[in-house]
Amino acid sequence: MTRKSNASGRQPSLLIDSEVARQIRQHAHSSTKAEICGVLIGQDRDSVIKVEASIPGVNAEEAGAHVTFTQDTWEHIYKIKDKEFPHERIVGWYHSHPGFGVFLSEHDTFIHKNFFSSPGQVAWVVDPLSDEEGCFGWVGGRIERLTQIAVVDQRGGERADESSRPEPTFSADYRDEDEDIPYQSKLVDTSGEISNSNSLQHLVWTIFSYLTAILVGVLVAWYVFPRVELVPVPVDPRTGQPLIGFSDDPRVAGAPHHETESGTDLKARDGKANQNPPQPDQGGSGTKGDNGQPK
Ligand SMILES: [Zn+2]
Repeated sequence: MTRKSNASGRQPSLLIDSEVARQIRQHAHSSTKAEICGVLIGQDRDSVIKVEASIPGVNAEEAGAHVTFTQDTWEHIYKIKDKEFPHERIVGWYHSHPGFGVFLSEHDTFIHKNFFSSPGQVAWVVDPLSDEEGCFGWVGGRIERLTQIAVVDQRGGERADESSRPEPTFSADYRDEDEDIPYQSKLVDTSGEISNSNSLQHLVWTIFSYLTAILVGVLVAWYVFPRVELVPVPVDPRTGQPLIGFSDDPRVAGAPHHETESGTDLKARDGKANQNPPQPDQGGSGTKGDNGQPK
């Protein structure tokens, strides 16, 4: 290959088939960790480069950030080119920069100078993570990023009504489970009633689930955790001792171990007992002074 420069010093015009651009994007998206590469097939005439097809370099060594065109890669590429594109030319190459953006590294420039040195050969770069695309070509012996890239749609010129198909819609018939309903109700306009009734059903079911969970939690807590019962016990105001036998509660009547409880507990029980109406020692006087101070 001879190294020639674009004598005019003007950038070449690049026309790329929309289908080729789509295939390159898909190839790049197939590997977001390692770089992929391939060659561009088409025509190059009077500083107008037309990219009409591409051949993925399946055997290219994808060593991390750098692609390499090995002997196997070229054999594979020429085998396909001679068979499918015998009258076309290799008008450049493409490769991906997953997450690095669009530029030509030193390594890329080396590849471009050594394998794609014709003025009609370009380097297409795509970042599958950001979907940024760019193309570099020869301008006056230097490699420059091209200013204008035209995408050619081969189906351009078709009448719109010739390929008329029904607008794709999301049908309510495909709904299977409750989880899909909030999403579907946004998309489906014609089945709004069905979606709304299902939303209500979903809401009722959610509330019922929460209430059931709370009830189960309360029942479990009731059985698991120890319960403290406060039992009013009448006490003798002079001694502060519980009046054995007064209460009909068997736990109080025959429970001398209550005396061993702490003073705080006794005090609390004392206060509680004083508020109780049946006070055996008060004799019906009802005044506060009589309480605990017998005459
Ligand atoms: Zn690169």
